[in-house]
Amino acid sequence: RQQAIASAPAEPGVLADGTAVQILANVGKPADAARAVELGAEGVGLFRTEFLFLDRDVAPSYEQQLADYVEMMTPFAGKKVVARVLDAGADKPLPFLNDAIEANPALGMRGIRILKVREQLLRDQLTALRDAAAQTGAKLWVMAPMISEASESVYFTELAREIGVEVAGSMIEVPSAALLCEQVLESSDFVSVGTNDLTQYTLAADRVLGTVASFQDPWHPSVLRLLKLIGDAGEATGKPVGVCGEAAADPQLAIVLVGLGVRSLSMAPPAFAEVRVALKSVTLEQARAAAKRALAAHHGAEARELAFPA
Ligand code: PEP
Ligand code: MG
Repeated sequence: RQQAIASAPAEPGVLADGTAVQILANVGKPADAARAVELGAEGVGLFRTEFLFLDRDVAPSYEQQLADYVEMMTPFAGKKVVARVLDAGADKPLPFLNDAIEANPALGMRGIRILKVREQLLRDQLTALRDAAAQTGAKLWVMAPMISEASESVYFTELAREIGVEVAGSMIEVPSAALLCEQVLESSDFVSVGTNDLTQYTLAADRVLGTVASFQDPWHPSVLRLLKLIGDAGEATGKPVGVCGEAAADPQLAIVLVGLGVRSLSMAPPAFAEVRVALKSVTLEQARAAAKRALAAHHGAEARELAFPA
C-alpha cells in the first residue's frame, strides 16, 4: 500500500463528490520548492520567509531577498505562492529584530506586532516579493502572521496594496482573530489558519515545551470550535479559508477541516499522497457529518473517535 501511495499520480485534491480542495506546500528554503513541485504541489500555501534569515545578524537587503525569492518561486511559475511576511519572535527569533529580553516571547513582540514598529523592513520585504513574482510569473499572495484584530489586517492590506501586491490576507493563529474572523475578513482577501500557534494559544501550552506537549493537539474540540467560527466567517463573506499548520497533514483531520469549511490545505510535501487519498474517500456531506461529531467531543482523542468510529 505504501508503494501505491508513493507512486500515486500527483492530481489536484478532490473529494469523492468532485469538491476541490487545494493541496499546497509548506516551504522554508528555496531547495524545498523543486521537491514540492515533483510531489504535485498545486502551489505554495506557506512560504516561511524567516527561515532564509535565521542565521544572519543584519536585516537582509532588498537585493538578497529578491535573489532568494526568485529562486523559491521559479518552480512555481503560473502557480499560487502564499508568502508569509517575517514571523520573527517566540520560536523563530531573528537577531536583528528580537533584541529585547522577554520573559514570555510567545506573548510578546512577534509577527505583525514587530513589523509595524519596523515598517521599512516590511516595505522592503513586500517590494522584493512583488518583484520576484513579476520576474518568475508566480501568482503571489502575501499574508501577515500573528494578527489579533481587524486594525492589524487593515494596516497590512493597505500597505501591501500601496506597494502593488494585489492579494493580501491574514493568518488566524491567535484565538482573538478567530473569534473576530468575520471582521478580519472585511480587510483581508483570504485567511489561512496557523493551527500550531492557534493550538498553543487556545490551550495555553508552549508549543516548544515537551512537558506540555500533550496539550498541543489540534483535534482538541476548543480548537475545532474556533475553526468552525473561521469556516463560517469564510462562508458568510465568500472569501477563501485555508489551513497551513501541521494539522493539515493529518489525513483524518484534513477531512474534518474540509467539513468545517476549509478549501485549501498546506503541508510538508511528504504528506500529500495520504491526504489526497483520504479526501478522495469522502463526500462533502460526509466530511461535514464527521466535523459535526468531532465538535461535540470533550477532548482531542474523543474528537478523533467520534469523527471516525472504529
Ligand atoms: C502555525 O502557527 O500553525 C504556522 C503555520 O506557522 P508557524 O508554525 O511557522 O508558526
Ligand atoms: Mg504560526
